[in-house]
Amino acid sequence: MERFIDRCRQEGLKVTPQRIAIYQVLMASRNHPSADTVYREMSATHPTISFDTVNRTLLTFADIGVIKTVESYSGSRRFDTETAPHHHVHCVKCGRISDFNDQGIDTVEVPDRVVRDFSVIGQRMVVSGICPECGGK
Ligand SMILES: [Zn+2]
Ligand SMILES: [Zn+2]
Repeated sequence: MERFIDRCRQEGLKVTPQRIAIYQVLMASRNHPSADTVYREMSATHPTISFDTVNRTLLTFADIGVIKTVESYSGSRRFDTETAPHHHVHCVKCGRISDFNDQGIDTVEVPDRVVRDFSVIGQRMVVSGICPECGGK
């Protein structure tokens, strides 16, 4: 939370109670929530907040780098409070996205033909499958 507040101040973004509340909802959700999910949770405690406000706030957070957007596998954009490099396991049934780390994958070399004309700033593995709750292993 302190890191979040520092970062907002550095970027000249006012730290309002509403922005803090949105960030807290994100932090509490371990499932890379969509704007819709954050909005639904926010409206429990902030009944007057609009979806547009939540969505715009999330995009602003992503813009200044306090959160990341996650590849959209189906439908809406998802958000991630973990900004350090990591990888994802994605359940194709319930849409759950979990994090994992693996040094071996971090150091996989990007093919020459990609590096030739592309400035690489990161690489991430996404494993798709079916989670235990949805009847996987
Ligand atoms: Zn699942
Ligand atoms: Zn993640």
